[in-house]
Amino acid sequence: MAITTRALLDAGAVVPMLIGGEWVPSFASNLREVTNPVDDRVIAQIAYGGVSEAQSAADQATAAFESWSNTSSRYRADILWRTYELILERADEIGALLSLETGKLLSEGIGETRFSAEYFRWFSEEIRRPQGEVFASEDRSRKQLSISRPIGVAATLTPWNFPLSIQARKVAPALAAGCTVVARPSEKAPLAVGELFRALVDAGLPPGVANLIYGPASIQSNALIDHDGIGVISFTGSTPVGSALMRQASNRIVRCALELGGDAPYIIFSDANIDRAIEGLAIAKFRNNGQSCIAANRVFVEDSIMDQVCERLAKLTSSMRIGDPLGHERVDLGPLIDSSRVRDVDRICRDALDSGASFLGESPIVPDGANFMRPGFLVDAAFDSALAKEEVFGPIAGVFSFSDEDEVIHRANDTKMGLAGYAYTNNQSRIWRLAEKLEVGILGLNHPLPSVVYSPMGGLKGSGLGREGAHDGLLEYLETKYISIGIEEK
Ligand code: NAD
Repeated sequence: MAITTRALLDAGAVVPMLIGGEWVPSFASNLREVTNPVDDRVIAQIAYGGVSEAQSAADQATAAFESWSNTSSRYRADILWRTYELILERADEIGALLSLETGKLLSEGIGETRFSAEYFRWFSEEIRRPQGEVFASEDRSRKQLSISRPIGVAATLTPWNFPLSIQARKVAPALAAGCTVVARPSEKAPLAVGELFRALVDAGLPPGVANLIYGPASIQSNALIDHDGIGVISFTGSTPVGSALMRQASNRIVRCALELGGDAPYIIFSDANIDRAIEGLAIAKFRNNGQSCIAANRVFVEDSIMDQVCERLAKLTSSMRIGDPLGHERVDLGPLIDSSRVRDVDRICRDALDSGASFLGESPIVPDGANFMRPGFLVDAAFDSALAKEEVFGPIAGVFSFSDEDEVIHRANDTKMGLAGYAYTNNQSRIWRLAEKLEVGILGLNHPLPSVVYSPMGGLKGSGLGREGAHDGLLEYLETKYISIGIEEK
């Protein structure tokens, strides 16, 4: 039977890194504890490396690049397809690990695992489609064309909120393109990602092509960025960290793909189907315990339906059950990732209350559950309060009324971020105006779940650079080489 992370945890063994095809403890035998956010109980010890592990992984990936980048697309596609199958076969177990380390619902953990598998399937197919172009030359003595070549080693640096699918949407296109990989996931949720790399090894990926390291964030990221073999940094996380990585990358002019913070408006017009808008908001706000980069952050409601919507939202939150996602009771919301996240959401709520806001329903802090918060909506927060200006990243949102379309578009765009947005309306012309005018990279119109593997996802403004998923996602790992060939007439 294959060794799994679950088996390692049951045996009390250290979860290792993957460097050059070997499962290794850290060179200096450093360890770090991983905890379950439900009760802060230690669930695992991971090998925790430093600069030397980052450099060694980058050396191994650089050495493997020569042969991997020259394999046939069919060969790479077959390994990716097998990885897709293995992740699916193991989805229940990997999904439970995700739930254990992040506190997300088990159904969401399994759903994220299946979604992650889809990236391997989709890019295994996409890499077999034609790449490059032949130009219509204006000169009969020349042929002019472009080809795509893999950019080098990809450093994939990711957060804890969707630890598996965010790595999958980087690793799958990178490997498909012919790049090799060094992954550094968040130390807060490293376990399920280990299973992704185990699936790659079991699928027959040659040693050194995909490496996985754990360790201190900025030290390892900078060591990777400064390594000559690294051709692209693909980072998902907060905007300040993305900006720091981009500054570091400027020393060597390394390409950056950045998926950063969000501040999504969720707009409900009076002509919308209100039932669908409320159901959609429950998903867009509370999925992943409210810790999603594309989560609804500011709810704008047309004033003629404000009372009705507020009443419905108070009912919605009071009916939601919170608790251990892997416990015996059915729950709708698990804990936040840790107490620092709770403190930050609490700060935003208190600032809103000080600015004159009030909760629809109960106050959200659960007294003796350190990492738990009740879901909640706040009305009448000041426009300059933290609630109106910052990404909450928890199960809380501000509700603001508006009186016309131009006003709400202006207010929705009045943010430094531009990742996702949502609007509910049955006016077809308005749908098109919103599509053009809302300053976001991902727009859900009458739909709360825009993420799919075959569409390009990414942000405008402070929310990042580049796109993930779809053909655009493959381009992040490819360089275009233009070729001009002189032709002699016979
Ligand atoms: P974070 O930026 O604190 O951490 C992300 C990753 O960067 C983690 O692996 C962390 O260990 C590492 N890191 C932290 N400090 C670093 C530093 N100084 N140098 C290098 N690496 C560092 O973000 P987070 O709290 O883990 O995640 C939440 C943020 O991520 C939110 O802003 C959210 O919107 C964003 N996010 C964006 C997307 C997207 O697709 N745009 C998806 C998920 C999360």
